[in-house]
Amino acid sequence: MNDKKKIAEKTIQFSVNGQTVQAKEGQSILQVCRELGIDIPTFCYDERLKIDGSCRICLVEVEGARTLLPACATLVAEGMQVQTHSEKVIEARKEILALLLSDHPRECLKCEKAGECKLQDYGYEYGVDEEQFGYFVGERCERDLDDSNPFFIIDRKKCILCGKCVRICNDLQCVGALHYANRGYKTVISTPFLQDLNDGSCVSCGNCVSVCPTGALMPKKPESYRSWEVKKTTTTCSYCGVGCQMDLCVVNNRVVEVKPRKGAANNAMLCVKGKFGYNFLSHPDRLKTPLIKREGEFVEASWEEALNYIKEKAATVKSEQGDYRFAGLSSARCTNEENYLMQKMARGVFKTNDIDHCARLCHSSTVAGLANTLGSGAMTNSIEEVLRSDVVFIIGSNTSETHPVIGAHIRQAQAQNKTKLIVADPRKIDMARDADIYMQIKPGSNIAILNAMMKVIFDEKLYDQAYIEERTENFEELIQTLELLDFKELCKICGIDPETVRRAARMYASADRAGIYYSMGVTQFASGTNGVMSVSNLALLCGQIGKESAGVNPLRGQNNVQGACDMGALPNVFTGYQKVTDAAVREKFEKAWNITDMDDAVGKTLPEIMDAALNKELRFLYIMGENPVVSDPDRHHIQKALSSLDLLVVQDIFLTETAQLADVVLPAAAFAEKEGTFTNTERRVQRVRKAIDPPGQALADWRILQKLMQCFGYDSNFESAEEIFEEMRTLTPSYAGMTYTRLDTLDGLQWPCPSEDHPGTKFLHQGRFTRGKALFVPIHYTPPVEEPDAQYPLSMTSGRNLYQYHTRTMTGRVEGLNLKEGHGYVEMGPATAAEKGIVHGDRVKVSSPRGEIVVIAHVLESVQEGLLFVPFHYGEEGANVLTVANLDPICKIPELKLIKARLEKCEAAL
Ligand code: SF4
Repeated sequence: MNDKKKIAEKTIQFSVNGQTVQAKEGQSILQVCRELGIDIPTFCYDERLKIDGSCRICLVEVEGARTLLPACATLVAEGMQVQTHSEKVIEARKEILALLLSDHPRECLKCEKAGECKLQDYGYEYGVDEEQFGYFVGERCERDLDDSNPFFIIDRKKCILCGKCVRICNDLQCVGALHYANRGYKTVISTPFLQDLNDGSCVSCGNCVSVCPTGALMPKKPESYRSWEVKKTTTTCSYCGVGCQMDLCVVNNRVVEVKPRKGAANNAMLCVKGKFGYNFLSHPDRLKTPLIKREGEFVEASWEEALNYIKEKAATVKSEQGDYRFAGLSSARCTNEENYLMQKMARGVFKTNDIDHCARLCHSSTVAGLANTLGSGAMTNSIEEVLRSDVVFIIGSNTSETHPVIGAHIRQAQAQNKTKLIVADPRKIDMARDADIYMQIKPGSNIAILNAMMKVIFDEKLYDQAYIEERTENFEELIQTLELLDFKELCKICGIDPETVRRAARMYASADRAGIYYSMGVTQFASGTNGVMSVSNLALLCGQIGKESAGVNPLRGQNNVQGACDMGALPNVFTGYQKVTDAAVREKFEKAWNITDMDDAVGKTLPEIMDAALNKELRFLYIMGENPVVSDPDRHHIQKALSSLDLLVVQDIFLTETAQLADVVLPAAAFAEKEGTFTNTERRVQRVRKAIDPPGQALADWRILQKLMQCFGYDSNFESAEEIFEEMRTLTPSYAGMTYTRLDTLDGLQWPCPSEDHPGTKFLHQGRFTRGKALFVPIHYTPPVEEPDAQYPLSMTSGRNLYQYHTRTMTGRVEGLNLKEGHGYVEMGPATAAEKGIVHGDRVKVSSPRGEIVVIAHVLESVQEGLLFVPFHYGEEGANVLTVANLDPICKIPELKLIKARLEKCEAAL
């Protein structure tokens, strides 16, 4: 990045190895030679990092220079004459290699890095005699081997001190867990692995491991194999919505390692889950055959038996009820093609719009709120743009834990671009530590803090008058509301002193480019849609939508939650948000799908589906890759609803808590076992590629759906995921210009992409909003639905942590991740704990009107007093035993972020 900034347009002419070449002013000799395909060895160079030049292996000869010069740190100049492989250069490189080998163990035969170790490769290439300087290993090898991290080891004997790991850790991941220790010959890489996240140290991202050129930093692997046995397949991470690009390294149909690729969203970085969370793929618990529940026990079945069983049971429902009483839950974990087929099956085969998925629980308020104010309910800008923002305002997003690579990008922006950071969150989350302004708001006070900031901006005339006049409507109504608001009262509701709010408002309003980043801390309220529209109001007031490095940026949680919404796995829209109530749209789909009599009414949302199951209005529920027993509010209510059905079919990769309640379970392929596409949080459609075969009889979800559609008499004959994508794009204007050929890059394409010559859309609403003019919607603060009372005197919020993912279907089967955060816990402030005589590590009971959980107490200064935080990942130890479906009246998202609760210490400590 730093190199790129320096590149100017002026052309330089110079010569390399006697050949005249052209380059841009500001390029280094190394950059130009790489472009020309001239191989210059490097150890410490990484194009993403500042030039270090310490390893010297890239020395080249420049005529007129008194010494050899490092190619990485020497800029090209007009008329320069460079020799990259002269005798002098070769001798110098040999000497450097011999020196490095004098301090390096002779373990190449058994070293796991053999075959991809740069030291070994260059040693071979330059024919270095390793005995030239003798062998001195031993003096700087105090604590040589450190295997205290669950995911990787450091073997200091193999370290050549290129420093890339230290620079990645400090300059890109920005956590500063790695340092140099000692001086001179005794210099070593210091690795305080034993410190955990709460010490602001190692987050086990493994980015240091990925860049190590030797065997000094190596992933822990149960398998032993040689690098040349590995087959690599590039694909998209299946965890969060960042959509990092990665290579799956496969030996004998087993993923043995993951390596980052340089995608537009991740810049060759990964987090701990993407890098090390892959062992679930080969876990013995994987579902391998269809299962039918007979007399309360699952019995293995063939595909034919399972499908016939479903067909017969469904026919019984139909004959008794007049129709199938079907509803479908699609999946933010599955591909676009699979979500497309799922909604096609619901609408085309079962003739219902009762189709939804877990976006209902995370960002349905974003879709509703931003669609209303801007015309499009998606992240307005691209992830990498944050690097050039002047101000970043994070509200309701624990970014470094839930979207770790975006968290790292924001920290890079702070370090490299002097970006100012404002954070508003009830917990002093990791990002708050480095914030310029941190506001520890009371839970549920988002609208109040946003209104308070807008009031300051309005009163001090800091708003963008020209932008408002030209690009928005309804400003007068917003003014009337702001004029009525009592600033001090708003600050009191938030629990923030007025001067801090003023500073935050001025900082945001004075920025040229300011981006707001939010997530479920804004959306998961009964006032979630209003919260989202408040965010939009603030950004519009300051003219921050429709330009680069600014915008309103909802961070979507799961890998393909954006795609599942785009594909119409929602009760009110087909693909690309085309309304089911629009007759012309219905006619288009009926014609394409060769069906008639499509449902013309908006269907049921996920919570409504559960209620309808409970009251027997629905009889047949089909769930693809979701686990509502753990992810949905009020676990006992969900279990009761699912148990009330006549027929529950679940297709998944493991026998989840939800699958255990099913009548039929169908074994599905995981992301590494199929082709398709995911759409990440910034609307970027990226390829998913098959690296291994699925276990047993498991099939790609789209193949299962197609079998079922055929079984119910629908003529569906797709032979590949690509064919499904082709059908989808002809019906979806925002995806129309995308093809698998065009998507076959590391950057994919961002929608809208209406034609095959369209480059995709980096940021939305440039020049014109999707709805024409943006709409101000004045919002008044409303208190949370459930407030503490005498019986339940505390507030409880819920969320995620870095090491687990969603309902732990995958991460719960990765040993290292469980070592980090394997059990449910509750976070609380010291005074809240002391009042109950609780100390860190105690076993405690947390209860609400819906139930109780027994978990471990984490007593932390970062949590405000009177508030409990419980992650939702942990099934019977998770937050959703306690939460309730108090719904937003517009989008029906439950108020998962705030309930009343009680805390008690259990008798026996763990
Ligand atoms: Fe995967 Fe998200 Fe981590 Fe990237 S940041 S590696 S997409 S979990």
